[in-house]
Amino acid sequence: MPDPRETELAANLARTRARITGACEVAGRDPDSVTLIVVTKFFEAEDVRRLAGLGVRDIGENRDQEASAKHTECADLDLTWHFIGQLQTNKAKSVVRYADLIQTVDRASLVSALGKAAGGIDKCQDVLIQVNLDPATGSGRGGAAPPEVLGLVDLIGQQPSLNLRGLMGVAPLDADPRPAFETLAGIGADVRQIVPSADIISAGMSGDLEAAIECGATHLRIGAAVMGSRPTVR
Ligand SMILES: *Cc1c(COP(=O)(O)O)cnc(C)c1O
Repeated sequence: MPDPRETELAANLARTRARITGACEVAGRDPDSVTLIVVTKFFEAEDVRRLAGLGVRDIGENRDQEASAKHTECADLDLTWHFIGQLQTNKAKSVVRYADLIQTVDRASLVSALGKAAGGIDKCQDVLIQVNLDPATGSGRGGAAPPEVLGLVDLIGQQPSLNLRGLMGVAPLDADPRPAFETLAGIGADVRQIVPSADIISAGMSGDLEAAIECGATHLRIGAAVMGSRPTVR
């Protein structure tokens, strides 16, 4: 008997991949230049296994405890794990153990904590700087203010165990996401003047992936469109 959850995920994935292909066509971009990260927060490890079976390679998680447990349960699958949640410095040691790309570096204290934690296990940790694209929310949802980004680029460059791969941003809710994504792309170009290999732009979620692709996103973080609506916050 087919697993109904797998059937549901397969259909959602097909629909999402079609949206990505369609948006790439409109933007004149190669769909291979866009990586789909499926955000599995609040869903069980079994769903990660189903997704892997459906060809998903990139998984996003936003809470250390949940991510760490799922990573252990899925250790036999060859997946790339993205940490996309706000990160406290006391979680740095835990996160560097399993995260392939930490997308939410937004302050100096976190740069030092991650540098020390990664150095402690002889790891070169890939990171993104999260940029706050919604000045109205202040730093509530995390992210460095745009004028702080180049300072963080400098600090990350001073940590031999950290490797800056680019930028991440979340567009403001209930507004046209394009201006925010354009701001992110512009800062990305400034960063690449200093670190040419920092070419990742992580932008775009279930509701705004087309705009993100149009504005040059290389990585999309998609939750609800693939997983279905999340159980209410625990
Ligand atoms: C949950 C989350 C996503 C996915 O959001 P959806 O709207 O469900 O696609 C993307 N980015 C971050 C930072 C998230 O926390």
